[in-house]
Amino acid sequence: MSLITKIENYKLYINGEWIEPISGEYFDVVNPASGEVVSKAAAGDERDTKKAIEASYHAFPEWSTKPAAERARILRRLSQLLLENEADIARTISLEVGKPIQQAIIEVKGSAEYTLWNAEEARRIYGETIPAPIRNKRLKVIRQPVGPVAAITPWNFPLSMVIRKIAPALAAGCTVVLKPAELTPGSAVQVCQLAKQAGVPAGVLNLVTGNPVKIGETLLSDKRIRKITFTGSTPVGKQLLKQAADQVKRVSMELGGHAPLIVFEDADLEQAVASATQVKFYNSGQTCICPNRIYVQSSIKESFLVLFKERVGALKVGNGLDGNVDVGPLTSKNALEKVKSHVEDALGKGATLIIGGKEPVVEGYKEGYFYSPTILCDINESMLISNEETFGPVASITTFDSEDEVVEKANNTDYGLAAYIFTKDLSRSVRVSEALEYGMVGINDIGLAVVEGPFGGVKESGMGREGGPNGLNDFLESKLISTLI
Ligand code: NAP
Repeated sequence: MSLITKIENYKLYINGEWIEPISGEYFDVVNPASGEVVSKAAAGDERDTKKAIEASYHAFPEWSTKPAAERARILRRLSQLLLENEADIARTISLEVGKPIQQAIIEVKGSAEYTLWNAEEARRIYGETIPAPIRNKRLKVIRQPVGPVAAITPWNFPLSMVIRKIAPALAAGCTVVLKPAELTPGSAVQVCQLAKQAGVPAGVLNLVTGNPVKIGETLLSDKRIRKITFTGSTPVGKQLLKQAADQVKRVSMELGGHAPLIVFEDADLEQAVASATQVKFYNSGQTCICPNRIYVQSSIKESFLVLFKERVGALKVGNGLDGNVDVGPLTSKNALEKVKSHVEDALGKGATLIIGGKEPVVEGYKEGYFYSPTILCDINESMLISNEETFGPVASITTFDSEDEVVEKANNTDYGLAAYIFTKDLSRSVRVSEALEYGMVGINDIGLAVVEGPFGGVKESGMGREGGPNGLNDFLESKLISTLI
C-alpha cells in the first residue's frame, strides 16, 4: 500500500529564506510503518550552521527590544496558525514518527496552547525594586533575554519539543537556531513556515537540519550563541554539557527518564490499570515519562495482572495513520532492536512473559518496525530493563511488600524525571510523593505534561524546567542596576 504522492525536499530556513544546503545534499526521511521515503531533508553542516548563527546574532538587537506586547501578538498568531493547520501537521508527525493520528492531533493542539501560554507570559517579564541599605541609593533588577539560543530536539514529540523551546525563547526576546531530529524534520519545517506567516522577522528563527555532530559542535563553539536548550538522551546531553562548559554557556537539559509507577494494595485497581496502560503504551512507549518499572504490591499481583493483560491485549497495533490504532511502530530500526534486546535479556535472566514479546505482522506493512504490546513480570535488578530506558511498548512488573522498600527501589537509579503512585491513602500519597527523587510525581494521575506546570527532571534526567509560571526564566538573565542619587 502506498501512502506517498509527492516527496518534498525540505530546505534550510536561514534569515527568513528557504535555502539549499551548501553541500547540495539531502537525506531520506522514512515512514517507520511502511519503510517508504516520505521526504528528503537538507544535509546541513558547519557552514550552514555558521550562516544561521550569523542571522540569529544580527536579528537579536531588534527582536530583544521589541515591545513585549508585539512579540506576544506574533506568538498568538503562530498559535492560531498551528490550529488552522492541525490536520496537515498531525499527518506529518504521524508519517514520520508512526504515532496514531489522534495522538498527533493532541500534540498539535497542545503545542498551540503552549505557544499561547508563552505569548501571554511575554507581557509578564517583571523586574523588581529592592530596598537599598543606604538612603541615597536605589536598587532595581531588570530581566533581559540571554541572547541567541541553540535548540536541539528529539524525534518522539517532534512538534511539541520544538515548540517547548522556541515559544518561551521568542517570548523572552531571544533569537533561535533550531536543529530538529534527523528522523522527524517535517513538523519543524512547518513551524518555520507558519512562523514566517505569523510575522516572526527574518533571522529570529532559523532551522538547520543535517549532521548532528557538526551542527552541534558549531553551535556550541560559537561565542555568539549564549545558551543551549536540549531535549534528548542523557548520554548526548552529557556530551553537550561538557562542550558548553568551555564558554560557560547557559544550559537547559531535558534528558532521559526511567519512571517508576507504583500501585499500592489500597489503590483503585481499575483506575491504576487503565492509567498504567495509557501512560505505558502512549506513542508506543517512546515517551520520556512513560513508566519503565511498574511496582505492584505483592498482595494484589494476581488481580493486577489479570486486568492489565486484558487491557494490553485489546490494544490495536498498526499504522498510525489508519485511524483506529492504539500502538504504532517504533520510530526506527535501532529502536526496535533495543526493545528486542531488552526483552531477550530479561527473559534470559528469569522474567516471565505474560503477553506480547514478538514482532506482529501488520497487514500491508511488512517493512514496519512493529513490536507487540508486551508485559513481563518477575523482573529483577540485574536486567537491562531495570536500569536503562527501554523506550518501547514493554511493561515490566516487579512486586514489593512495604512502602519503604518500594521507595528505595524506585529511587535506586541515576534518572529522576517522572514517577507515579496509585493509592487511596492520603497520608501515604503525601509521604511517598515527597520521598521520591523525581522532578514530577503523579498521584493517581498520569497527566504531567501541562503547560501550567514546570516540566523537567532531577539527577541525570536534566536541569531546568519547561512551562509553568517560571517557564521563561531559563531564557532570561537578571541584571542588578544600582544608582547613587
Ligand atoms: P538523542 O539521540 O539524544 O537526540 C536528540 C537530538 O540531539 C537530536 O536532534 C539528535 O540529532 C541530536 N544529537 C545527537 N547527537 C548529537 C551530538 N553529538 N551533538 C549535537 N546534537 C546531537 O535523543 P533521541 O533518541 O532523539 O530522543 C529520545 C531521548 O530523548 C530519550 O532519552 C528521551 O527520554 C529523551 N526525551 C526527554 C524529554 C524530557 O522532557 N526530559 C522529552 C522527550 C524525549 P539526530 O536526530 O540528527 O541524531
